[in-house]
Amino acid sequence: MNKKENILIVGAGLCGSLLALRLGQRGYNVSVYEKRPDLRKVDISAGKSINLAFSNRGIKAMKMVGIQNKVKPLCIPMNGRMLHDKKGNTKLSNYSGRNHEYINSISRGGLNALLLDEAEALDNVSLFFNKKCKHVDFEKTTASFYDYVTKSEFTEDADVIIGTDGAGSILRQSYYLEKKFLFSFSQNYLTHGYKELSILPTKTGDFKTYKNALHIWPRGDFMLIALPNLDGSFTVTLFLSHDEGEYNFSNLTTPEIVTEFFKKEFPDALE
Ligand SMILES: Cc1cc2nc3c(=O)[nH]c(=O)nc-3n(C[C@H](O)[C@H](O)[C@H](O)COP(=O)(O)OP(=O)(O)OC[C@H]3O[C@@H](n4cnc5c(N)ncnc54)[C@H](O)[C@@H]3O)c2cc1C
Repeated sequence: MNKKENILIVGAGLCGSLLALRLGQRGYNVSVYEKRPDLRKVDISAGKSINLAFSNRGIKAMKMVGIQNKVKPLCIPMNGRMLHDKKGNTKLSNYSGRNHEYINSISRGGLNALLLDEAEALDNVSLFFNKKCKHVDFEKTTASFYDYVTKSEFTEDADVIIGTDGAGSILRQSYYLEKKFLFSFSQNYLTHGYKELSILPTKTGDFKTYKNALHIWPRGDFMLIALPNLDGSFTVTLFLSHDEGEYNFSNLTTPEIVTEFFKKEFPDALE
């Protein structure tokens, strides 16, 4: 295969920014187009950021691009799962019998921002934000975009186009809609959604509960989890059905019902 010089990446999430960095390090000319604003300048989490449970696989990728020492200070080791029952009793279940084996809690936005910084520092990598890919033409290897700022459309040419545009990939949709290739895919939607909450630090900046664990309140059809942050807080995520079960996102409509739900199911998580 000939070396393809100009690479266009659609999506600057974790995979797109890591890939841009790696390909940039290997001397390719890389352009990354992201539909959202630059997350280093604008808060785009919209209550759905969730820390990553970052394991050996992720660390291996960081080593490959040589930034493991910059990532390590962003990580909080989690040795196991801290299980919380309905009475508030806890039990730590270690991930491994070996003390040096653990997973890490890391801010998704923090890691993404670091990867973008590292990629952008390379002369041969360019990042473009607020540009939504609308279609990819595989025969011409062009991608068309809508610019949210100028409200105009434009088309970019490249030797190779790589889609890292997540679950609703436009690149995949273009394959499917063009019907020029033997291509099929299936997509299923979950009946559950998730909402991000917080356990704030104490007044002195300490963690309110055990720091080095992934806290979990398993309740069968739904659950609450909490992962530690560097500032002493925990990012808490409630996974719950949209409209099934006694409590669901459709009927948790008032502060009173939410409090009742938490008192019943997660009493020790309620402040
Ligand atoms: C609730 C939840 C919890 C998870 N927890 C973990 C965990 O603890 N540990 C772990 O390793 N993984 C976890 N994952 C999985 C992890 O989030 C994904 O594997 C990872 O985000 C995939 O990265 P990505 O870059 O491929 O896609 P994404 O992170 O989805 O990024 C895609 C990017 O493409 C952009 N984009 C989309 N469409 C377009 C377009 N048309 N034009 C331009 N840009 C576009 C998006 O704005 C986004 O920035 C979790 C996932 C979910 C949903």
